[in-house]
Amino acid sequence: MVLSTSAEQNQIQSGATNDVIIEAKAVSKHFGSEIAINEVSFQIPPGKIFGFIGPSGSGKTTMIRLLAGIYKPTAGDVSVLGLRPSQFTRQTRERIGYMPQLFVLYPGLTVWENLSFVASIYGMGLQRGARLKQALDFVELGGHKNKLARTLSGGMQRRLGLAATLVNDPELIFLDEPTAGIDPVLRQKFWGHFRELRDKGRTLFVTTQYVGEAAYCDLVGVLVQGRLLVMDTPTGLRHRAFGGEIVDLRTKERLDRSYLEILRGLPFVTGKVTRPDEQGTIVRLIVDEASTAMPALLDWCKEQNVAIESIEEHLPPFDDIFVALVKKEAAHG
Ligand code: ADP
Ligand code: MG
Repeated sequence: MVLSTSAEQNQIQSGATNDVIIEAKAVSKHFGSEIAINEVSFQIPPGKIFGFIGPSGSGKTTMIRLLAGIYKPTAGDVSVLGLRPSQFTRQTRERIGYMPQLFVLYPGLTVWENLSFVASIYGMGLQRGARLKQALDFVELGGHKNKLARTLSGGMQRRLGLAATLVNDPELIFLDEPTAGIDPVLRQKFWGHFRELRDKGRTLFVTTQYVGEAAYCDLVGVLVQGRLLVMDTPTGLRHRAFGGEIVDLRTKERLDRSYLEILRGLPFVTGKVTRPDEQGTIVRLIVDEASTAMPALLDWCKEQNVAIESIEEHLPPFDDIFVALVKKEAAHG
């Protein structure tokens, strides 16, 4: 009895402190008359990949710098690992990794020497060899450790930058546009690495301009001109953009308008019913939940004697989702 009570208490305590690893409360950052971050608030739970997505100049780097304690907010507050960045101790900093947009390597040092230099800054001791090797192997640079940094390709330099960020095994990792300007294959690999780190319990704060990368994140924040437009899961964003999930029903014969009216009135149809292709036989429906709407639609087709060609959920690309979200916001604002 006593044991179970204390175990429960432990759980409650750790739950309470581990709920939020990064918090921004109405934080703003001005540079003179330029408002780089405009009253942004969010909470990020630990053990997740948070994607901070926005175009160039939207304030991504400024936000990371506020969280890392490089900048002080003009107004509002941020808290990281339960502390204001101005209160960070050396111990706090050791728990945080930060890969800036332009990672600086020493061109005249080898891959290994560059990494070893970073490790020495972190005060890692003589046993650091194993840790360096692990970080290099993680980014698949183990076979290149004696190459001079200046002879590395852009992609390899980026991988070395990532290894350097991970060398002291931080639990919270800020990555500022780590996938910018690298080829799609390496981008995918990077996201694979990020997910692997997430699966080991690390928290990642990743900025990007590639909206398609939203799909790899657990949570996504959309930043436009210093304002956080929306923060949600990838599925949640899709829902917000279109008012629900999307189902495409392809029938053998083109349905006439009266059928479309009936479909609009069905209880699980929560949004528009359209024909994405005027000539074709597809009817596109916005529904609350595709997985339950599809069997219900099949039943409806049977009742109405409508012959079906196919039925499937339509997953629009994230580019379309972002365009819809930004348009929606513009209409409201
Ligand atoms: P992003 O990383 O999304 O490209 P930034 O955070 O670098 O955006 O910049 C956001 C806005 O703030 C931009 O308009 C930029 O010109 C401005 N800005 C950023 N840093 C400074 C600075 N140190 N001084 C003046 N303006 C700045
Ligand atoms: Mg930037």
